[in-house]
Amino acid sequence: MSQQGKINVAVENIFPLIKKFLYSDHEIFLRELVSNATDATLKLKHLARIGEASVELGDQQIEIKINKENKTLHIIDQGLGMTEDEVQKYINDIAFSGAEEFLEKYKDTAQDSGIIGHFGLGFYSAFMVASKVEIITKSYKDEPAVHWTCDGSPNYTIEPAEKEQYGTEIILHISDDEKEFLEESKIRELLVKYNKFMPVPIKFGTKTETLEKPADAKEDDPAPTREVDHIINNPEPAWTKQPSDLEDKDYKNFYRELYPMQFEEPLFHIHLNVDYPFNLTGILYFPKMTQDLSVQKDRIQLYQNQVFVTDNVEGIVPEFLTMLRGVIDSPDIPLNVSRSYLQADGAVKKISSYITRKVADKLKSLFNEDRKAFEEKWNDIKIVIEYGMLSEEKFFEKSDAFALYPTVDGSYYTWEELIEKVKPLQTDKDGKTVLLYASNKVEQHSYLAGAKAKGYEVLLLDSPIVSHLMQKLETSKEKISFARVDADHIDNLIKKEDDQISKLSDEEKESLQKTITETIADTNYTVQVEAMSSDAAPFIITQPEFMRRMKEMQATGGGGMMGMGNMPDMFNLVVNANHELVQEIINTKTEKKKTRLIQQAVDLAKLSQGLLKGEALINFVNRSYELIK
Ligand code: ADP
Ligand code: MG
Repeated sequence: MSQQGKINVAVENIFPLIKKFLYSDHEIFLRELVSNATDATLKLKHLARIGEASVELGDQQIEIKINKENKTLHIIDQGLGMTEDEVQKYINDIAFSGAEEFLEKYKDTAQDSGIIGHFGLGFYSAFMVASKVEIITKSYKDEPAVHWTCDGSPNYTIEPAEKEQYGTEIILHISDDEKEFLEESKIRELLVKYNKFMPVPIKFGTKTETLEKPADAKEDDPAPTREVDHIINNPEPAWTKQPSDLEDKDYKNFYRELYPMQFEEPLFHIHLNVDYPFNLTGILYFPKMTQDLSVQKDRIQLYQNQVFVTDNVEGIVPEFLTMLRGVIDSPDIPLNVSRSYLQADGAVKKISSYITRKVADKLKSLFNEDRKAFEEKWNDIKIVIEYGMLSEEKFFEKSDAFALYPTVDGSYYTWEELIEKVKPLQTDKDGKTVLLYASNKVEQHSYLAGAKAKGYEVLLLDSPIVSHLMQKLETSKEKISFARVDADHIDNLIKKEDDQISKLSDEEKESLQKTITETIADTNYTVQVEAMSSDAAPFIITQPEFMRRMKEMQATGGGGMMGMGNMPDMFNLVVNANHELVQEIINTKTEKKKTRLIQQAVDLAKLSQGLLKGEALINFVNRSYELIK
């Protein structure tokens, strides 16, 4: 006996509305229907296990089929099925009301990017792509099978159906403007995207399997083949297992499963596994990092109970960890809210700090277990760690246990070791420990050599955000200051008891300063006459640490320093009053000769820093020819 009914909803025709509001996300219908099929399968399995369902469990797989001729897509499960009453209740009442509630709530905002696109509309998302939907279902309970049909308007029909085996078949009559969902390649793509790790095997089509050749086969006989079910998914992905059941190679294999196009191996992994006060599992991988921060995001995939939700984990995972790869699975992350709301959510905050702590703990144990190996990886992971130290206070506090400070000579110090090592030698006149560093060994070679000749340690700090990190260390650690080797002359940076005595009087210094300033006539240079050791260079060009670092920080996105981008580079020209050449300049009587000496010496200083370019360089070369003629 067939019956008809009208679903109790205020919206006359739900289907165009759903289409309108979820325009960009039509494809999620498949995820929703396969999720329902999975739920139904797992429920029956559970009922059978606890003795509530006396059924013979089959292979329990879910099958997806395309019928091009009829323009239908079929989702078939061997789950618990529904009785007629259940169809009334779960499909007509609950599912529809869920859809209606959603539309009421998000009528005005659903198109805002704030709402996570993947909001599950459940069963009714089928109407995003189908003009008509049929359900043929038979409950595991001993009741007749049911056939439900609906075209998206609130009118449906229910009639008895012929179906022997318990389970449900959903038939979508794909609308004319959604034809792509009748393409095998499209459906395969969606299954791989959303259902790759769902817990019930999903069959889609067949594939050809090559068999062993029979013993009596001839050399050039082709190997026999057979068609077998093609199972799209891996129902037991690594993150659902216990870490103790997995070996290093299992983690590597899973990485390849996640990123089939990625040829490089991950450096190490972190297995996340907690069930209180929130439920979260997952595996994060540290890949080799490049210097470019922007291209590396969107690599962590978020799942809920093995169903893919999104690869945008912004707001869930701390920003610095979005550079990692891997999977997070948590049913406790609310998805029907905007991203900004998400960040304020208590559970999400806890999840985020849990992940941060796990990453810090892992780094610490890697460092302790095998320091050498950790040092070797440092260059590839430092960007994540430095970024984390800058952006997460908790991570910064823990970082002393694993953050490394490499020297230009290839030693790696922890913070504590570093301070202990440099403190006795490298102190400035205020009693601060001076941490010398280079950002480029080649460009800063002459300064570097000068520092090393004095026995100083020079760090090699070359990542793009390191100027921010130095700022942070200077304000949070006691009595230290960073100075790049070319920030000032070493003797001025690190003041000694036995400071040099000037061979020049104050008046002589002043007049020399004035003469040189007038000769070079460049407002970007500040001339400074200093008494240094006579073996130091006569003219040295330096760039004040503060100015240079401010510019660097601005370039890499330091807040509150807008407007400094257009500032010219500022230089100090340090003149060594104790150098022979400087003495000679002072003693030169003819103005012309004096000017030429100064120009020549300053140009040589510039040349050694790669600062002499264009016309200035040509003038220098011509002047040099004149001199040696
Ligand atoms: P949800 O999955 O969040 O409960 P849905 O709208 O997806 O919401 O589904 C509504 C209900 O319909 C489900 O809770 C379930 O009881 C029933 N249902 C849907 N699909 C199936 C299926 N394949 N087998 C059995 N029951 C189903
Ligand atoms: Mg559902």
